[in-house]
Amino acid sequence: MSDYGFSTLSVHAGAQPDPATGARATPIYQTTAFVFEDADHAAALFNLQVFGNIYSRIMNPTNAVLEERVAALEGGRAALSCASGHAAQLLALHTLMEPGANIVAARQLYGGSINQFSQGFAKFDWHVKWADTTDPDSFKALIDAKTKALYAESIANPGGLITDIEALARIAHDAGVPLIIDNTLATPYLIRPIEWGADIVLHSATKFLGGHGNSMAGVLVDAGKFDYGNGKYPTLSEPCPSYHGMKLWETFGDMAFAIACRVLGLRDLGPALSPMNAFLVQTGMETLPLRMQKHCDNALQVAKWLKANDKVSWVNYAGLEDNASYALHRKYCPKGAGSVFTFGLKGGYEAGVKMVNGVQLFSHLANIGDTRSLIIHPASTTHRQLNDEDRVKAGAGPDVVRLSIGIEDAADIIADLEQAMT
Ligand SMILES: *Cc1c(COP(=O)(O)O)cnc(C)c1O
Repeated sequence: MSDYGFSTLSVHAGAQPDPATGARATPIYQTTAFVFEDADHAAALFNLQVFGNIYSRIMNPTNAVLEERVAALEGGRAALSCASGHAAQLLALHTLMEPGANIVAARQLYGGSINQFSQGFAKFDWHVKWADTTDPDSFKALIDAKTKALYAESIANPGGLITDIEALARIAHDAGVPLIIDNTLATPYLIRPIEWGADIVLHSATKFLGGHGNSMAGVLVDAGKFDYGNGKYPTLSEPCPSYHGMKLWETFGDMAFAIACRVLGLRDLGPALSPMNAFLVQTGMETLPLRMQKHCDNALQVAKWLKANDKVSWVNYAGLEDNASYALHRKYCPKGAGSVFTFGLKGGYEAGVKMVNGVQLFSHLANIGDTRSLIIHPASTTHRQLNDEDRVKAGAGPDVVRLSIGIEDAADIIADLEQAMT
């Protein structure tokens, strides 16, 4: 299967006709539990001596298709699906962290991730140090003996910056920690972070992977390349009390991280993906390459139009030649710079509010990565919880409008923006 091209994998990876019925689309295995063959089989499953379905909090055959598909498209060793992008972030860090530990993260992140890291994770005594995506050395300067990972978004939401993944991977590996890349905005169609050295790739599959704005889902992908036996990750390298002292790293090697996220993280924290949502996301993924190219082509046209508009003070789209991320765009994602970006209105906060009130084709809402074009004014919504200084640092100042360009006709998208501005 892995010899096939990207479009073929998007349609087929992980799926086959249902062995019981011949159904060609993957059935939605809407069941909580799975019958054991006998007591020995049950014991072997619980001991992790054989892999198989036990209970849908941990594993489900519909979800397994989604997992295999994302792993294939990202070029990873194994993947795990879960209830949301934030759940994927929680599960990944639950495996790597311990109380008192920290991660060094890009401060140019999705506002919800900034909240999760700085507020939610602080309750576990997990800490975050904020670095600057545009300066990889700023990550290096913040690493200490308790640092467990570096963290960045391949294309940052909402600022549209493109991360120098290769440079961050080098810094992470020199320090003996994995690089985690949130690849939500790029998807593997535009950027495959593992090829540039990332060790863990996360997705809010709620966005472009599902692509239709109809279901929450998250996926984490284990590249299978990092040495988790280096002494920094006791969850993986030390005897595991809940599996009779089994050492996950020793037993499962290049899949140990993904397995730990499943058999410890998903088992104990519980954010399982419903099979219905797994079905919707994998159906959406069948058209991922077609949609992403259209998203990117439309976004470039809209960005160029905005750039020439006299009500607009700046446009931050990496696909524009004078953008600070243009060189990184040409290096990491030459097919397109994604479809989420920001621009500034000369009229500031009030003009932003007026614009989101005036759109007709665009939907004013807090989401991205839908077939439909979406608009939001981050300062009054997604980034509202942050203080002024952190908002500006996160690329969400008062004049900023964020767009997620859909796959409608570019002329209609542009006409709607034009009428909403006047
Ligand atoms: C939406 C988003 C998340 C969170 O994902 P949910 O599915 O909403 O939990 C994480 N990272 C990025 C870049 C996002 O856009």
